[in-house]
Amino acid sequence: MNRRGELDAIVVGGGAIGAAQALALARDGFEVALVEARAPKPWHAEDDVDLRVVALASDARALFADIGVWSSIADARIGPYRRMREWDASAPGELAFDAAENGEAALGWIIENKLIQHALWQAVEAERNARLVCPAEVASVANEADGVEVTLADGTRLRSRVVIAADGAESPVRAMLGIDTKGRDYAQRALVAHVATARPHEDTAWQRFLPGGPLAFLPLADGRSSIVWSLPDAEAARILALDDAAFRDELGCAFDFRLGEITSSTARAAFPLRMRLADRYVTGRCVLAGDAAHVVHPLAGQGMNLGFRDVACLRRVLRDARERGSDIGAAHVLRRYERERRSENALAARGLDAIQRAFDMPGMPAAMLRGVALAAAHHVSPLKDMLGAAAAGRL
Ligand SMILES: Cc1cc2nc3c(=O)[nH]c(=O)nc-3n(C[C@H](O)[C@H](O)[C@H](O)COP(=O)(O)OP(=O)(O)OC[C@H]3O[C@@H](n4cnc5c(N)ncnc54)[C@H](O)[C@@H]3O)c2cc1C
Repeated sequence: MNRRGELDAIVVGGGAIGAAQALALARDGFEVALVEARAPKPWHAEDDVDLRVVALASDARALFADIGVWSSIADARIGPYRRMREWDASAPGELAFDAAENGEAALGWIIENKLIQHALWQAVEAERNARLVCPAEVASVANEADGVEVTLADGTRLRSRVVIAADGAESPVRAMLGIDTKGRDYAQRALVAHVATARPHEDTAWQRFLPGGPLAFLPLADGRSSIVWSLPDAEAARILALDDAAFRDELGCAFDFRLGEITSSTARAAFPLRMRLADRYVTGRCVLAGDAAHVVHPLAGQGMNLGFRDVACLRRVLRDARERGSDIGAAHVLRRYERERRSENALAARGLDAIQRAFDMPGMPAAMLRGVALAAAHHVSPLKDMLGAAAAGRL
């Protein structure tokens, strides 16, 4: 803290993105407070694999290694995926990606959200430049010429040069800053569960495009697969209500029994799907990051990976500003972050939206087109590059 009792940064939201941002800045010597409304539930190795998992891309892994949390995550429980297969239920053709083609060991890693957050929180707690303020909700944010004042619901006031709102898709701080969003509701839910299959998953992430939405099987370390099944709202409600045996039958059919019968399944949960993009990322000395700035369709497992790229970019921009002797909350500094990330995130969101629309079009002509596209894309077309980039979280 400086002489005026001012921190360098206040990060609001201790989800994966906010916690990674706070840790990255603290590791670089900035004094940071991480404000979170609800303490996360701890992760225990003896607990079953949590229902919420993400497919982590290699650049996010590099960030984790750099801020010193990768080894604790990798030692705990991760499922590398080395291959990816994508195909369409109503058209011929299949896309295949193999990490070995690029000389890599894995395309990505399937990791529990809870484990990522747990590892990041433990590191933040042990980091002397970081202070956890939890449970605490932000009640107001006041941008001033030389700093920002954040008032918590209990009346506590914190001051900093910059505020980073990583408080999720509904971001209360984004609303306080008067930043609007645009997007669309897919009228779909992503149903998630873990399932065991008669045949092994072969360290492969499988995705079948169905008329109602994509169905993914992601390989878990224990040999089961984590499914993400995007379904129209009413269909999701119906499938959620099925008994276990009926659910396993319907899921096996929907997946074309690619890994044989579904032999067991856990509890199920479903999440509403939408695309949402913030109109701007910066107001005064406050910036948005992660889902507060962008929410994308999960068909390529991208949302959190994009957020980690926000973290890496903002870290670099603030570090550069400090090296040049600039105020880290100055408009020109924060706009550089906004310029870099807003266009890339919008491109990814729209690319995923286009893929989702293309695979969602009903009727034979559309199915034939998809078949031709998948068959052609299997060789060297930009579509394969785009789907491949999406698969590896690089879109
Ligand atoms: C079904 C599904 C599958 C997905 N799969 C993938 C995948 O494979 N790969 C991938 O990259 N992404 C995936 N995603 C997206 C990913 O889950 C999100 O992008 C990511 O969780 C967003 O993290 P976040 O930290 O930005 O937000 P959140 O996780 O929502 O965290 C926000 C935090 O802010 C706190 N908060 C809110 N308001 C306040 C306040 N006023 N004061 C203090 N704290 C506050 C909340 O308590 C919360 O802890 C998927 C999403 C879905 C729905």
